Amino acid sequence: MMRNVWVLAEHTDGKLKRVTFELLTKGREICAAVGGTLCAVLIGSGVEGMAPDLQKWASKVWVVDQPSLENYTPDAYAKAMTTIFEKERPIMLLLAASSNGRDLAPKLAARFDGALASSCTDVVMDGGRLVGIRPVLGETAFVRVGFKSPLQIMTIRPNVIPVTEPENPSNGTVEKVDVTFDEKDLRTKVLEVTKAAGKVELTEASIIVSGGRGMGGPENFKILEELADVLGAAVGASRSAVDAGWRPHSEQVGQTGKVVNPTLYIACGISGAIQHLAGMKTSRWIVAINKDPEAPIFKLADFGIVANLFDVVPKLAEEIKTMKTD
Ligand SMILES: Cc1cc2nc3c(=O)[nH]c(=O)nc-3n(C[C@H](O)[C@H](O)[C@H](O)COP(=O)(O)OP(=O)(O)OC[C@H]3O[C@@H](n4cnc5c(N)ncnc54)[C@H](O)[C@@H]3O)c2cc1C
Repeated sequence: MMRNVWVLAEHTDGKLKRVTFELLTKGREICAAVGGTLCAVLIGSGVEGMAPDLQKWASKVWVVDQPSLENYTPDAYAKAMTTIFEKERPIMLLLAASSNGRDLAPKLAARFDGALASSCTDVVMDGGRLVGIRPVLGETAFVRVGFKSPLQIMTIRPNVIPVTEPENPSNGTVEKVDVTFDEKDLRTKVLEVTKAAGKVELTEASIIVSGGRGMGGPENFKILEELADVLGAAVGASRSAVDAGWRPHSEQVGQTGKVVNPTLYIACGISGAIQHLAGMKTSRWIVAINKDPEAPIFKLADFGIVANLFDVVPKLAEEIKTMKTD
């Protein structure tokens, strides 16, 4: 069997998402370790134009470009993957641990009798075998997940793998695949997509500015939004801020909210309760702004500012704006 490692490309608004390049970086590393070939799978409607970006990385790019695939649905994507699998099978399939990837991966694992490791933060070689690293127990411990099945499927969190461009771009081949959809097999249909204009999705953001009870009220989040705007960041919140009705639940970070992995997490007026840390402790750099020097968040933070956030946050936004215009 060919030792192919496949990456399912994620895209939005006609552009490949950064997580796709993170997966390709990891896929290339795995191929080098197992002597495999890197392939990419591009599914959607009007997506063919993105294939050249994938050809630089992958030896082969499978493209399924059909109107029925305009929006992600598990049935349609699984059917598209099944049609490609009938032609060739990989030994490993990497997907983003995004809402689509997390939804699709178990379905594919069940359909193709594959082994699945979800929400991994890394993949390493151990004694010649691939092992997924996965945080558990509210991110307080890591488990190493081995695979027994010949098909290994893994979802990897966005923002955990630094992208390194290929030294020698591949110029891989493109193979278009036609999928015949039987309407009765497509059991769900996307009726409407509502997108907040200009907002960065929390789980994919590389910078997050988060506010807690220390923000004092919903109107004060304006200063966080201004800081987020200059940084190109997403806004997050602690559960206290969400429970108080200051922010929507979609912004809650933590054990009962979202798990995020940005490069930079700025916690403003957040004490650092264990349930909050469960959602953000794998962030690469953590900055905490809190007026209480004993706040537990400072134990985790790489940089701590003991101060009133209402003094610091607007100045920070102003400074960054000036740096950007200089
Ligand atoms: C089962 C369960 C699940 C939970 N899930 C989550 C979850 O998903 N996410 C989550 O966040 N929490 C979660 N919690 C709640 C968690 O235990 C904490 O209560 C919550 O995280 C506290 O939020 P906070 O840090 O905003 O508020 P607080 O703990 O009240 O901290 C506010 C901080 O703001 C600082 N502050 C106040 N004013 C200023 C100022 N002007 N300038 C600077 N600093 C200031 C204070 O010093 C303080 O440290 C969960 C709890 C349970 C029991």
